[in-house]
Amino acid sequence: MKTFDLGDVHHHDTEWCDAVLRRRMDAWLAERVHEKTRETGGGLLSGVRVDGLLREEGEIVGVTCEELDPITADVVIAADGVNSELARDAGLMDWGDPDEWFQGVKAVVDMDPELVDERFDVAPDDGVAHLFSGDLFDGVRGGGFLYTNEASLSIGTVFHLDSLADERAEPHELLDALLTHPLLDQWFQGEYHEREYAAKLVPDSKKAAHPSPHRGRLLLVGDAAGQMQAQGPIIKGMNHAVSAGGLAAEAFAEAQSRGNPASAGALYERKLEDEGVMAKLRPTRYRLTRVVSENDLVTRAAEGVLDSAVGRAGVRAFDGLLERGFNSPFLLGMIPDTRTSYVTIPRVVAEELGEPVEATNDVEPPALDDRIGDLTYDVGEPHIELQDNSWAASGTAVTACPVSAREFGGGCYREETIRTNGGTERVVSLDTQPCVECGTCAIVADTEWDHPAGGKGVEFEEG
Ligand SMILES: Cc1cc2nc3c(=O)[nH]c(=O)nc-3n(C[C@H](O)[C@H](O)[C@H](O)COP(=O)(O)OP(=O)(O)OC[C@H]3O[C@@H](n4cnc5c(N)ncnc54)[C@H](O)[C@@H]3O)c2cc1C
Ligand code: SF4
Repeated sequence: MKTFDLGDVHHHDTEWCDAVLRRRMDAWLAERVHEKTRETGGGLLSGVRVDGLLREEGEIVGVTCEELDPITADVVIAADGVNSELARDAGLMDWGDPDEWFQGVKAVVDMDPELVDERFDVAPDDGVAHLFSGDLFDGVRGGGFLYTNEASLSIGTVFHLDSLADERAEPHELLDALLTHPLLDQWFQGEYHEREYAAKLVPDSKKAAHPSPHRGRLLLVGDAAGQMQAQGPIIKGMNHAVSAGGLAAEAFAEAQSRGNPASAGALYERKLEDEGVMAKLRPTRYRLTRVVSENDLVTRAAEGVLDSAVGRAGVRAFDGLLERGFNSPFLLGMIPDTRTSYVTIPRVVAEELGEPVEATNDVEPPALDDRIGDLTYDVGEPHIELQDNSWAASGTAVTACPVSAREFGGGCYREETIRTNGGTERVVSLDTQPCVECGTCAIVADTEWDHPAGGKGVEFEEG
């Protein structure tokens, strides 16, 4: 195991860093929005599902809702996340290609505040973040993270969805591989109580960030526009979502003051460029280098060299420079999405420059059915429909869905064998009850995917 200090890149471009639990932060933010909108005669509606765009003569003029009458608006700013139904309705995003997405899975783990401070060696109001990569995830491209909170830890994994699908890996098992790694014994010390298991897709902005995220009066911000920057240890999704929301609001205010609210979209696009947001989300250097750096032959050659005596000698020779490389936003902006970057380099670096971890971590994370059992659901109508239940079309969901697994009958997706004329056929069945609304099966299976009705579905307590 080899550790690098990533403080420089962590603080790059960022005035402060905090770890937050979204359930509490979102509730706090909602109150602030409510206060502000009340001052100007507006308001905040919660527990309502927006189910489409309202159009008049083909022009977007508002939104339709499952629970309320349609709402008209001068401008619609869609911040409805990675599986944005509004972006899909407007034809701005499709959910076709697994290599444009990551799947994140997270456990929130109990830890008393004094133990957090003592075991992570931090002052009471401070925290720490660790990132993990290497071969502890069965070769699936991705990594792990651990953030300290006041009285808990957020520990999770984030994988390229195409890699997860190709390897037929099960997300809960990959998370358990991290949770039970000997390195974590120094923090758990044999105690593990999981408060909540959660999962969510995020877009890979390098490929998915829409260069022109607006149509008519609709402006997309945050994950809905593919604006999640994940480049090695740079993980900025909330930052960009908040910035884009601010830029979209500014664009609308300016457009309206010029008496032309319909120009808000074009102004917003220009602001994303001028403020440098697009350059971070879709670095040109990645687009230019990926043709070579993600080529199969180049990748195979790089793997061979890295594992050879020459490659290992090179790693030892560059010991001093490696930490600087991992802290360079310029280099991280062109990391190829290959096994070499996520698995082989970290493994060879650890083998050549690190020390073995001697501890034993014997914590036992809960089984998948206990994790599902501990979640709270307000179950409504099924919100996902399987369009094609053949194994070829939808079988990947049995392993890629974070609340399903082979040999597990209690998850969303299950493998079944049915009799056909003269033989048997492998098919998939779906039960949306345990769904955590991560969005994975919108991409890896043939489904008609919607969010549940307002207030229905899973209710995360930590987020
Ligand atoms: C495991 C994991 C770790 C991450 N770590 C980090 C990190 O360290 N730092 C960071 O900056 N980012 C991180 N991210 C990414 C970050 O969570 C996202 O980029 C960010 O939440 C995007 O914000 P958003 O507002 O665009 O979308 P969301 O936070 O997804 O919010 C969308 C909201 O819209 C609601 N909604 C959706 N559809 C509808 C509808 N039809 N009607 C009404 N409401 C609807 C949803 O319920 C949700 O509340 C991480 C993500 C994961 C999965
Ligand atoms: S059913 Fe689909 S959306 Fe729900 S948890 Fe499974 S993969 Fe995610």
